[in-house]
Amino acid sequence: MDNKYNFDEIVSHLKNSGFVYQGSEIYGGLSNSWDFGILGSWLKKNIKDLWWKEFIERSPYNVGIDSAILMNTKTWEASGHIKGFADAMVDCKECKGRFRADNMIEEATGLSAEGKTPEEMDKMIEDNHIVCPVCGKHNFTSARSFNLMFKTYIGTLEDAKSVVYLRPETAQGIFVNFNNVARTSRKKIPFGIGQIGKSFRNEITPGNFIFRIREFEQMELEFFCQPGTDLEWYRYWVDYCYNFVKRLGIDENKLRIREHAQEELAFYSKGTSDIEYAFPFTDWGEVWGIADRTDYDLKQHSEYSGKELSYLDPETHEKYIPYCVEPSVGVERLFLMICCDAYDKEMVGENDERVVMHFHPAIAPVTVCVCPLVKKLAEPATKLFEDLSQEFHCEYDATGTIGKRYRRNDAIGTPFCITYDFDTENDGCVTVRERDSMNQERVKITDLKDYIKDRIKF
Ligand code: ATP
Repeated sequence: MDNKYNFDEIVSHLKNSGFVYQGSEIYGGLSNSWDFGILGSWLKKNIKDLWWKEFIERSPYNVGIDSAILMNTKTWEASGHIKGFADAMVDCKECKGRFRADNMIEEATGLSAEGKTPEEMDKMIEDNHIVCPVCGKHNFTSARSFNLMFKTYIGTLEDAKSVVYLRPETAQGIFVNFNNVARTSRKKIPFGIGQIGKSFRNEITPGNFIFRIREFEQMELEFFCQPGTDLEWYRYWVDYCYNFVKRLGIDENKLRIREHAQEELAFYSKGTSDIEYAFPFTDWGEVWGIADRTDYDLKQHSEYSGKELSYLDPETHEKYIPYCVEPSVGVERLFLMICCDAYDKEMVGENDERVVMHFHPAIAPVTVCVCPLVKKLAEPATKLFEDLSQEFHCEYDATGTIGKRYRRNDAIGTPFCITYDFDTENDGCVTVRERDSMNQERVKITDLKDYIKDRIKF
């Protein structure tokens, strides 16, 4: 797909304007680690708040928890992560490049290698005479599995008994709490449990800026329902997630739902779909995964823990292990999609160019910037700023011409600039300048909060 702007340009804008910093920069950095700066941490917070609002607060079905990152190691035996959470990697013997075998095969041939064993992948590399994406030679090591979980030790002894893992997903913290939530929430099936938290994966090929990183945040929902109703709920949640992205204003020409083919599905899954976005660095990249996981997880944890994780229907007195539908999304992936989609450059008049981030006003890092026309008006403008700050994230900008202040705010995606001028004292109105249309409107200060609230609704 044609992208109007190249990825490097967008990344450099995000770095230069304080959205994202290189991690550990003063020490020369740590490869593929990133810190979120002043604007980035606001954007991230706003994305997470919006997810929580739409998936937990406003949902009649769902509740939220916040489980620990370090979990009893048996959790990962039960979930299959110790045995199976591995990617196969190959090394190029010529240029020493290291690649994820499945990605390399898919990129070279268009064939899916998901779920294939390392031996099967070796055969695909041979049969299709795949060459190294860096040096173009065909001389690889055999594919080897590599567990993606970070290992650490608990306590003072670094021995096998003290090994723990940094969680590679937040979902298992939900499954192991199924009984606790069922007991303390009085929720009836169908209900969901969601959480937002850090996950860690020792990715073989991190990259594309914050698209694939080793430390990231996930927003996951495990939605429990009666067996037999699962496919209906699976479709419900695919639509719900797609709508969330659509309502953020993401260009629908760059969005698609990719339903996994039967042979791509995990053995326990009845259906999986990815919401994908046409990022500037690839054709399509996964943003959100929605999977019907059947009763696999609760069954596994019941078996490994010896604790029954089932549900007794209070009306029919039927007892069963609920099926689970999981929509799972990475905060940084959403962040990156939102930024790639928001970035724009346009000519204003003959020779004035502006960079503008068209963020949905509900998630823009700064909602309002208060600008006194001249420094003399600082006192009443500061009062207005303080008043608006009670309800919105506001900035105060008194430096440079009004035009320059507008440009600065366009570049970081502030939806409203409010100018306090000499007339304000007489008519009680300020000028509200809207980012996308650049229209200006006189609004009564007494109506201002409602005016803004109305326009930042999601
Ligand atoms: P991939 O195939 O890209 O490795 P996955 O299918 O393993 O991803 P899931 O385990 O389904 O991903 O994770 C759910 C979501 O978490 C993904 O859709 C993505 O948004 C996010 N995510 C997963 N791995 C990473 C990562 N390394 N960096 C950033 N976000 C990630």
